[in-house]
Amino acid sequence: MAASSSVARCRGRQEIRAALLFTCLLVLVCRTLSGGSGSCPPRIIIAGAPAAGKGTQCAAITANFGCVHLSTGDLLREAVKEGSALGKEAKQFMEGGKLVPDELITSVVLERLQQPDCSQQGWLLDGFPRTKSQADALTAAGFLPDCFVLLDVPEQDLVERVTGRRIDPVTGKIYHLTTCPPPVEVIPRLVQRSDDTAEKIVTRYREFRTHVDDVAEIYKSTLVWVDGRQEMHMVQACLSQAIAESLNRPSL
Ligand code: AMP
Repeated sequence: MAASSSVARCRGRQEIRAALLFTCLLVLVCRTLSGGSGSCPPRIIIAGAPAAGKGTQCAAITANFGCVHLSTGDLLREAVKEGSALGKEAKQFMEGGKLVPDELITSVVLERLQQPDCSQQGWLLDGFPRTKSQADALTAAGFLPDCFVLLDVPEQDLVERVTGRRIDPVTGKIYHLTTCPPPVEVIPRLVQRSDDTAEKIVTRYREFRTHVDDVAEIYKSTLVWVDGRQEMHMVQACLSQAIAESLNRPSL
């Protein structure tokens, strides 16, 4: 695993309560310092293996920090559903659990980051950059994060997470059949991602491992490592605390 500049980890219930309180204070301080006008909007990157919990945590981060959530996985799945040129090109790679070519995704992300909502509210990049070349393109375009979060979950835990994962297409909520069971009334409409299978997770995890150290190295001055095996709310408290701290840190 890449060297980390900071390790965020919470252990007990009392610690999580204290962390949540501390986080609320830090978020308040952060918003007050920015005058509530978005003059220092947050710029966050979250990385993690498939099913490390990025989607769930991104919802909490956007609620806490008010930034625009850009998930390249969601963006590409939408393009596939629409049958756009991007979707048609990306489909074969996604179905094989492979990364889509850098040039296909990078220009889409850079264009999206230049939209007014991202410059005013800040951004949370989820699933991008996934390779050194994507990270270099982001840097060259002047997009540098305040915080690069690495949500770490060991490979053996991921198969169980992926195969039990179900998504509610109406609300976008993510459930797990055993660890985060859905309400009975939504069960009939739940869907499983076509790449959430035991075989494909192996390829997807390998793709992740091949590139993550190179990407983490680029962002090592803002890197925060979070133990993704912790209970969901604990991960949330650790993440929010680490992000708020990095936003209140003087620029390097
Ligand atoms: P995710 O939902 O983040 O697991 O992404 C689903 C799939 O979309 C991945 O397995 C890749 O095929 C593709 N994908 C998403 N983000 C990227 C990226 N930054 N670079 C290349 N492929 C990506």
